[in-house]
Amino acid sequence: MNKPILIVGGGPAGLSAAHSLASIGQKVVLIEKENILGGAPILSGYSKLVPSGEWAKDAIGSMVERVEKNKLITVHTSASVKEFSGKPGNFKAALSSGKNVSVSATILCTGFTHFDGVNKPEWGFGTYPDVVTTTQVEQMISSGQGVRRPSNGDKPKRVAILLCVGSRDRQIGREWCSKICCSVSAKMGMEIREELPDCHVYIYYMDIRTFGLYEEVYWKSQEEYKVKYIKARIAEVTSDGDKIIVKGEDTLVKRPITIPFDLVVHAIGMDPNVDNMLISSIFGVDLHQWGFLDQENMYGTAGATSRAGVFVAGAATGPETIDDSIAQGSAAAMSALASINTSIAAE
Ligand SMILES: Cc1cc2nc3c(=O)[nH]c(=O)nc-3n(C[C@H](O)[C@H](O)[C@H](O)COP(=O)(O)OP(=O)(O)OC[C@H]3O[C@@H](n4cnc5c(N)ncnc54)[C@H](O)[C@@H]3O)c2cc1C
Ligand code: SF4
Repeated sequence: MNKPILIVGGGPAGLSAAHSLASIGQKVVLIEKENILGGAPILSGYSKLVPSGEWAKDAIGSMVERVEKNKLITVHTSASVKEFSGKPGNFKAALSSGKNVSVSATILCTGFTHFDGVNKPEWGFGTYPDVVTTTQVEQMISSGQGVRRPSNGDKPKRVAILLCVGSRDRQIGREWCSKICCSVSAKMGMEIREELPDCHVYIYYMDIRTFGLYEEVYWKSQEEYKVKYIKARIAEVTSDGDKIIVKGEDTLVKRPITIPFDLVVHAIGMDPNVDNMLISSIFGVDLHQWGFLDQENMYGTAGATSRAGVFVAGAATGPETIDDSIAQGSAAAMSALASINTSIAAE
């Protein structure tokens, strides 16, 4: 039997890679820095997922369960890799617990970090309690509390969701599109309208990028749930002491607009994992110019990095959806397995 394959990160990508390998008899060591598995959908308490409409705790929870139950997978939570050395087929990883593991290949599934809205101060997050993020609203819904104004606990009557917060914004060094936030916002608009049918929901957008089949949520949110879309450039978000005031320009009619809301939601983007510099130096892999883990030979070997025997999958490579992260985890698992067979044949 081969030495185990090391997987770093227990989100959708890492869970998928671990399951794929174990299902063909390959041993796996899975390292997760938090105290539970599941990645962002579980750690941040997402509500219903797009496009499936399944609750995150059920969909991702079942992925966690099958990994935790699999005897070929050894899980270390609240753990990280401190040192990593060796060559394909024969790597050594020193863990934060003091334990050393001998592994044949590694898949980095270390995901992303949510954009921190305080880096966009003119849009009011961190200044006004009723300016919140999509992750906060996901938590309000998934906890059963419902969507409320943090300032006074009231049900909002008017909600604005601002798209592209921390994405497609050169001024703050974030040029990438975060891929999923248009779809998540359209879904969230429907969830809010379902819970609070008297509440008006407005989505402020530059462009709508509900790519591929995700376009379904865009149409459904308008036609069935009456979510309204405003094509606008936002100038600033202020407060009159009660309402949150969104000022900007309606770019379709080219007129300034100032509208008061009870709750303003930032559709935050996906930043590179804040630890990527450290991850890059420990594992000896290159970073993309925007700080994500770089993929080499994209059309040749799925998940290849600049270091032979070390692979990458999921949102560690750039903004990704859950289904694509899962597919990449599985694909990187196949590449990792092939790399071991090649290194054995070369010996
Ligand atoms: C508000 C919001 C809502 C979203 N909703 C949806 C949705 O409905 N549908 C959808 O398809 N996508 C959605 N997404 C995107 C989704 O979060 C990602 O596609 C998914 O989480 C990527 O999975 P991943 O495993 O690559 O990374 P992550 O989920 O980020 O998991 C990475 C894991 O690695 C761990 N880790 C990180 N660094 C280390 C380290 N150094 N050592 C050990 N462990 C480490 C982390 O703790 C984490 O558990 C949403 C994103 C946002 C921001
Ligand atoms: S998915 Fe939509 S909201 Fe997110 S960055 Fe891209 S265009 Fe902006």
